[in-house]
Amino acid sequence: MRSQLFVAGVMLIVLAVIFFALQLPLVFFWSVPFGIAGLIMVAVAPFLSESEGPVKPPEGYAFCAFCGNLIPSDAVRCSLCNGKQPRES
Ligand SMILES: [Zn+2]
Repeated sequence: MRSQLFVAGVMLIVLAVIFFALQLPLVFFWSVPFGIAGLIMVAVAPFLSESEGPVKPPEGYAFCAFCGNLIPSDAVRCSLCNGKQPRES
């Protein structure tokens, strides 16, 4: 169950219903693809696993604070962008 996708699908269906009810030119046309996309998202969401949190670096490594390159956690400077790594302690 991917709850974010389910909520987004429900919001899209609500938007499609609003667009359908408003009967505005051009905006009304979008109620059809919005509704279809929302139904697909709601239908697919229960079969997908919950998305995991932020990506964690492997043991002994850290991500560069400036470019995201994988560097050893004791490295002072990044090998890619040469940025000096901030230290928490
Ligand atoms: Zn870097």
